[in-house]
Amino acid sequence: MKSASTYRAVQAVSKGKLEMTEKPMVDPPAGHVRLRVEACGVCHSDSATVEGILPIQWPRVPGHEAVGRIDMTGEGVEGWKLGQRVGVGFLGGSCGHCEYCRDGDLVNCINQGYTGVQQDGGYAEVMIAKASGLIAVPDDLSSVDAAPLLCAGLTTFNALRNSPARAGDLVAVFGVGGLGHLGVQYARRMGFEVVAIDRGGDRAELSKKLGAHHYIDSSSTDVAKAMQALGGAQVVLATASGGKAVAAALGGLRRGGVVISLGATDEPIELSAFDLLFKQLGVDGALTGTSKAGDATLRFSAMSKVAAMIETMPLEKAAEAYAKMMSGKARFRMVLTMT
Ligand SMILES: [Zn+2]
Ligand SMILES: [Zn+2]
Repeated sequence: MKSASTYRAVQAVSKGKLEMTEKPMVDPPAGHVRLRVEACGVCHSDSATVEGILPIQWPRVPGHEAVGRIDMTGEGVEGWKLGQRVGVGFLGGSCGHCEYCRDGDLVNCINQGYTGVQQDGGYAEVMIAKASGLIAVPDDLSSVDAAPLLCAGLTTFNALRNSPARAGDLVAVFGVGGLGHLGVQYARRMGFEVVAIDRGGDRAELSKKLGAHHYIDSSSTDVAKAMQALGGAQVVLATASGGKAVAAALGGLRRGGVVISLGATDEPIELSAFDLLFKQLGVDGALTGTSKAGDATLRFSAMSKVAAMIETMPLEKAAEAYAKMMSGKARFRMVLTMT
């Protein structure tokens, strides 16, 4: 911290441009807390803010995998303590009064902002967060380790947890990258038979190390055939962006199976209604999860030793970390550190 009255933050100022700035310290409004950020993951969805893919009012501080300590609580905040270490994910906190919230469907709250999109995120030494969106960080998880679990971890963990797959079922993880390398670990720890799929042979050994029972090289193998030879998957986690990847995954499902698409893309998904009808196949999506599901993600990860492979960089190198993530060269999650 430079001084008590300002803090450093990295903000997107125009398409593709991140720059360091100094922001005035403010008190949290009612229902919000102020955090001293300790770590923040760099996620592919940060491109929504930096490249202006979602409607953005620049300048905006990206970052929705933020971990920090509460240093001030706004009026009406209950259940969270000063000094407590908490996480903030993509969903910025539900409103509690819209029709979805009143029905218990907090993810679909219509008054929920996206962290780092409608409100400033975690590429900063300090951030303001809505208390209803906070995630509890267990003591035995470091801030750096917890950060990528708040989006990449929560997304894959919750998608698998809510999927129709049961212990012993075949679950495929399409793409062993930032999301997939966590998906493989969760799938294994949840008791599924796990097949990892990626292009080329160089991810085979890593996939096995992460817990996959099988590996399919999609560049040299007919993926659908190879999956059917294993009995067909009950669930495919499609972590690679693109409608074509989702369509290809359908061929590897067993009857009644479902592809869960996690890669954020507007590329259309082409599929045959025959498959949906006669094989009862399904296509679904999953948008992270509630803050309570975030708690469960972190606890499960700490208990069963699921960890992201992480490269850290200090906050002032945020632009470099972002560029490395966007280039696909990160192995596999970049995390910014503030101290
Ligand atoms: Zn709501
Ligand atoms: Zn994310």
